[in-house]
Amino acid sequence: LVSRENHPNRSVVRVGGVPIGPGTMTLIAGPCAVETPEQTLAAAQMAKAAGATLLRGGAFKPRTSPYAFPGLGEAGLRILADVRAETGLPIVTEVVDAGDVALVASYADMLQIGTRNAQNFTLLQAAGEAGRPVMLKRGMSGTIDEWLMAAEYVAQRGNLDIVLCERGIRTFEKATRNTLDISAVPVAQRLSHLPVIVDPSHSGGRRDLVLPLTRAAIAVGADGVIIDVHPHPETALCDGPQALVDGDLRELAKIVRDLPGIV
Ligand code: PEP
Repeated sequence: LVSRENHPNRSVVRVGGVPIGPGTMTLIAGPCAVETPEQTLAAAQMAKAAGATLLRGGAFKPRTSPYAFPGLGEAGLRILADVRAETGLPIVTEVVDAGDVALVASYADMLQIGTRNAQNFTLLQAAGEAGRPVMLKRGMSGTIDEWLMAAEYVAQRGNLDIVLCERGIRTFEKATRNTLDISAVPVAQRLSHLPVIVDPSHSGGRRDLVLPLTRAAIAVGADGVIIDVHPHPETALCDGPQALVDGDLRELAKIVRDLPGIV
């Protein structure tokens, strides 16, 4: 279903009316985690002012440590909905449990499946039945074939509105949080008709790498990027070191906007 064999033209997926696919370089930005109404609104206003067309933000956070901030749950979804009403930006937010899919889908414009759940087949199937577009991150140790098969689980449930997201894979290299597998973008685009975007924030895990990795994503023809931003990264409850501040985001957005042929 997701292969290009029977579907030679690349697909465009619409999220609350915003297109992601060939001919676009969709900028998705927002906080890694929803912390407070003020922080989420400030991040969304930064995103919107810079030209982002979709808002990201996690209310259910899959954390490596059980002692780390796990997200606000439904209260976080309510904050996102309020911020959407205020800014007009459709929401992309993660769901980590099949039992929460209906709840998250009742607030979200797009469901995000994170790297840690890239082969949680029950969750993938539930997301496929939720009636919302799905952003599917690549598993941190997943091959491209495994990623596409994960997408197939969603598609099998009748939902072809799937966007693939390369977010870096685990390698021996420790200088970066993950290793951005830039070749995965054109490879996945050749094998599948689904749009492919890049997450430079979670790939490098470092603010100073977000811009260069975004340039790399643009150079290989990614259909969009998803970027962490925070009004005060030094106090962020999740992934502050990779969050952009206002000026950085504007610079990044200018690079994205100035691309020839981008709609
Ligand atoms: C995220 O985007 O908030 C996230 C946790 O990403 P990943 O699943 O790629 O680690």
